[in-house]
Amino acid sequence: MSDKPVVLMPEDIQRIMGKDAQRNNILAAKMVAEVVKTTLGPRGMDKMLVSPTNEIIVTNDGVTILNEMQIEHPAAQMMVEIARTQESEVGDGTTTAVMIAGKLLENAEKLLDMKIHPTVITKGYKMAAEKAQEILKELAFKINSSDEDILKQIAMTAMTGKGAESYKEKFAEIIVKASKQIENNGKIDIKDIKIEKSKGNGIKDTELISGVVIDKEKVSHDMPKIVRDAKIALIDCSLELKNPEIDTKISISSPEQLQNFINQEEREIKEIVRKVKDSGASVIFCQKGIDDFAQYLLSKEGIYACRRVSKSDMEKISKATRGKIVSNLNELTPFELGDAQTVEEVKNGEDVFTYVKGCQNPKALTILIHGSTDHVLDEIERALVDGLGDVICSLQSGLVVPGGGAIEIELARRLREFGQSLSGREQLAVEEFASALEFIPTTLAENAGIDPIDVLTELKSRHDSGERNAGLNLFENKVDNVLEAKIIEPYKIKNQAINSASEVAVMILRIDDVIASSGQKDGKVNSMKNYVEGLE
Ligand code: ADP
Ligand code: MG
Repeated sequence: MSDKPVVLMPEDIQRIMGKDAQRNNILAAKMVAEVVKTTLGPRGMDKMLVSPTNEIIVTNDGVTILNEMQIEHPAAQMMVEIARTQESEVGDGTTTAVMIAGKLLENAEKLLDMKIHPTVITKGYKMAAEKAQEILKELAFKINSSDEDILKQIAMTAMTGKGAESYKEKFAEIIVKASKQIENNGKIDIKDIKIEKSKGNGIKDTELISGVVIDKEKVSHDMPKIVRDAKIALIDCSLELKNPEIDTKISISSPEQLQNFINQEEREIKEIVRKVKDSGASVIFCQKGIDDFAQYLLSKEGIYACRRVSKSDMEKISKATRGKIVSNLNELTPFELGDAQTVEEVKNGEDVFTYVKGCQNPKALTILIHGSTDHVLDEIERALVDGLGDVICSLQSGLVVPGGGAIEIELARRLREFGQSLSGREQLAVEEFASALEFIPTTLAENAGIDPIDVLTELKSRHDSGERNAGLNLFENKVDNVLEAKIIEPYKIKNQAINSASEVAVMILRIDDVIASSGQKDGKVNSMKNYVEGLE
């Protein structure tokens, strides 16, 4: 045998193995949870994020914070992913999900210190997560769309502690009204609701408009301000003469030639406008530009036109008015046009909008948020999206649970009972899983400046004596029946949070080797491969 060294990988590959890899990953995950911890709950604080281009975001929203932080550590990125999944699946509960995952890993570390093998821990965690889902379902309450008060309470619980808090009653009303209106036999498509923002008036002027509102004004002052019984053409090609791709030179030697050239252009534009008019359209939404001369001709015909309408707005108007988006003017016939009772230009504060109202599809809605600055508008939008998400997912699953940590304490209590029935060391992991859930009520207390140990002791003893809705009421800073205090959350938030938190915790615990190749120039980690060796 030769005694030459065996080279398996290039030199610039970084490798961390065994315990070091585990500890390093756990530490990173804990740090992510630590970042969002102080924002949890109605008394949570906000974070100010400044981007490289000096844009400022002030927010309390878990997923927004993590998205903006440009996290690079691979295990930490997996934590951020939990928040993203939570946001896309339910639209709320992002902080909760990340915190439970962080705590599961922190508690696993204790077990690793006791020389318990990661396989045992992950097995225990999986058993606990499964059991938790079962108990959660048992503890949930059924609701339906006629329980308006409960739905409003859910929306308000979601918005407590956010920028929208002072007007949460009004917002809750808007959210519930909107969600019920777009419901169709239990099916709800959140895309039917458009959220538009207007700078100028106060937050309290935020309104629900039935129809589509877009932030575009009509292209010419001479066009009508309002069109009734509108026939709407949706066009995604430009209403201009095509610019030649390459520079073209035209040599003109006489005034007649110039006039001919101009006449030719005019004829083409007139032809474009004639096609629109012949279709019977009285309103045009164009995704591209509209030529100046065409604007003039359109206004002479009394046609209302908006240009550079975004693709998503075009799609919303198409769905609302049942009009078809056409890419070629030759295809524009009366059958492609959409219908609406009115299309109107409306000035709100500093901004000018076009309202499309009385649409064919009555489910098309817009929530128009008013507020004084972009920061306020953005934070109100995030709160509103949380509230909408919560109400919609409660309507979809028809199940809700008590908030304020009540559900977490009851789950923990029942999980401990379940743990006792197990014989192996998995029991310890189930117990750590239970205590990770208790981290939610203790953090809610801590963020409100209340002693977390006192709260936890009282909550546990009240749950032991059968008060399963005892939770932390942060309107009055005391342990209380949270259902009576109207602190209610959708079942799906908790179900999703427990699911993804435990999945990611298990995944991170199973990694015992990190092999990272560094980039040639900046030494950044470009790719990473996880080796999960021989576990299970
Ligand atoms: P997330 O990103 O996880 O949704 P939030 O900051 O929205 O985080 O906080 C949600 C938590 O706050 C939930 O556990 C919810 O039960 C709790 N909560 C909301 N309102 C109250 C209240 N008035 N009293 C106590 N807890 C509340
Ligand atoms: Mg929330």
